[in-house]
Amino acid sequence: MATRLQPADAVTIGVGLTGSLAAYEMVQSGVKVVGLERGAERETVPDFQSPAIHDELRYSIRKAFMQDNAKVAVTFRNNSDQTALPIRRWESFLPGQGLGGSFVHWNGQSFRAQVADFVLRSHTIQRYGQKFLDACGPELTIQDWGVTYDELEPYYDRFEYLCGVSGKAGNIKGQIRPGGNPFEAPRAREYPNPPLKETYFGAIFRKGAESLGYHPYPQPSSNLSRPYTNPLGIKLEACVFCGFCERYACEHYAKASPQTIVLPVLLKNSNYELRTNCEVLRINLDSTGKKATGVTYVDGAGREFEQPAEIVFITAFPLNNVRTLLLSGIGKPYDPRTGEGVVGRNYCYQTTGGPTVFMDESININPFMSSGAPGTMIDDFSGDNFDHANMNPPFIGGQYVGSIMTGGRPIEFHPTPPGTPPWGLEWKRAVARHYNHTILIQQHGTSMSSRLNYLDLDPTYKDAWGQPLLRMTFDFPENDVRMSQYIVDKVVEIGRAMGGKIVVRGGTKRPYTTTVYQSTHNAGGAVMGDDPKTSAVNRYLQCWDVPNVFSLGGSAFPQNIAYNYSITIGALTYWALDAINPWCRHDLPPPPSCGGGRHARPSRGHHLGPGSERRPSG
Ligand SMILES: Cc1cc2nc3c(=O)[nH]c(=O)nc-3n(C[C@H](O)[C@H](O)[C@H](O)COP(=O)(O)OP(=O)(O)OC[C@H]3O[C@@H](n4cnc5c(N)ncnc54)[C@H](O)[C@@H]3O)c2cc1C
Ligand code: SF4
Repeated sequence: MATRLQPADAVTIGVGLTGSLAAYEMVQSGVKVVGLERGAERETVPDFQSPAIHDELRYSIRKAFMQDNAKVAVTFRNNSDQTALPIRRWESFLPGQGLGGSFVHWNGQSFRAQVADFVLRSHTIQRYGQKFLDACGPELTIQDWGVTYDELEPYYDRFEYLCGVSGKAGNIKGQIRPGGNPFEAPRAREYPNPPLKETYFGAIFRKGAESLGYHPYPQPSSNLSRPYTNPLGIKLEACVFCGFCERYACEHYAKASPQTIVLPVLLKNSNYELRTNCEVLRINLDSTGKKATGVTYVDGAGREFEQPAEIVFITAFPLNNVRTLLLSGIGKPYDPRTGEGVVGRNYCYQTTGGPTVFMDESININPFMSSGAPGTMIDDFSGDNFDHANMNPPFIGGQYVGSIMTGGRPIEFHPTPPGTPPWGLEWKRAVARHYNHTILIQQHGTSMSSRLNYLDLDPTYKDAWGQPLLRMTFDFPENDVRMSQYIVDKVVEIGRAMGGKIVVRGGTKRPYTTTVYQSTHNAGGAVMGDDPKTSAVNRYLQCWDVPNVFSLGGSAFPQNIAYNYSITIGALTYWALDAINPWCRHDLPPPPSCGGGRHARPSRGHHLGPGSERRPSG
């Protein structure tokens, strides 16, 4: 029997990127928020300090920061004719656990999406025609987001300044700027910090790419290029290229994370209460099934509690967002046989990989001296930056390409050319020869949603509390494989132009496997949109069926963008919160579509209308 606690105004399920941002915005308005996090509390000091934080076995291999899949795993299969089995060892994607979530052990690669990304379906049909889109794959279920780039631009700006992103603008208000990415969507102003210093491998990539007429630019990075104080007054330091960034927390306060950009202020606010080691089992609904009354959770001692709340934010990482909706009976689950239902629909991933370029022994790369986002990039093949009209076979989408090496750590990094034995003396000789003379090129791109790919509850496997695991049914659509293979050929040419003695092709292949790291940008499953038949949440990330529940994060993407998606997630969170906040305030009248007092509002089934918008305040 659950113990019923004092009601809160709002509760967040998870305290990672979206959970900490949402809570911060809400408490500013006097709303009392409880943050429930399934993992432990942790801070830069003492938890992220060296030498312990540079333990490659613990963090990279044994995944100390990742979701405990002995308790809650995900089951996986490539198609619905197969039986899904639990992923007992994370490899392909690495969902986080603990205060700060995955935004603690992320890299800091800090891109915006492009204008066309938000209107992908209409843009594609307008530029290439319906027939072309059908030829890319009749199974594709791509759709527009219900929000445009122009609407999100101020929120991108606000989030980049919170993180202190280091970069060089390529397009300010439509004016192309030298040194930046000429393909980027227009931004209102420069990045808050200048780009990181270019690495040697970046300089070699730049030279090779330029010689072929491409347009290199410095990767926008939340590894800071200089000391910076963010708009909340929190001080960050400059990155020292320690080589332990991706999969690790930053000991130097130099990488944007909840601990370095928002938690120090949020945790001091008396309207906020953090509870760690608390696993939310479900959102509770009233007898109508149209209103959430709060959540049920289990604490570290195994005690069950009911936390009543007026508003519930699901901020649990995309896969867990979708599972929470399914476990709580919110929204109609997707049925792949009929194509009906929305929760679990349009789950999609990302296309990654790229060539390995083996250089002459005179080229010393020093790969161990790097950060999580030190790249030199080109966007010439990203999204719709190149003409797809004559592609044969046809495809849509694209990839950014760049040299991004994130640290030559000894267990993970030992490149050897094809033909090298996998062990023994010859292998050791090859590692010694190539360790310091190899450059990795990254292709990182779109992945289209398909009616064949989805998330639902597993009929067999359960978690530590007896609840069904999330089941993932996924393989890359043929469209994505065609796209990746087209770009591979171009990137191999860059590898040769860089002076590569041996260039080994990469690229996306089928079947998708969960045994190799690709990206933790799992997307979709509770997508946003204008039509409740094809979206689980509206354009403010508010559940259509239970309006006092908001599902924040990458689960809202109708298909995946080419870029690492956290900056877009941050912008979307601000966008949604800006609409929600006035609605919840004591002192503001309700938006035109709503009625009643503050506590009545979330429960009345109203959806946020355009009248509830306001510009960001900084
Ligand atoms: C190795 C790695 C590198 C990455 N690099 C980049 C990058 O360079 N650029 C980029 O844009 N993105 C990157 N990402 C992705 C980035 O980390 C995520 O986009 C971001 O953290 C998502 O924010 P979120 O709030 O949705 O989830 P998270 O930040 O993961 O927060 C979710 C939180 O919810 C908690 N939770 C889940 N379920 C429950 C429950 N039932 N009850 C209570 N708590 C719960 C989790 O423990 C977690 O703390 C990377 C991710 C990884 C793993
Ligand atoms: S590479 Fe830079 S930002 Fe990343 S953990 Fe090291 S010091 Fe921090």
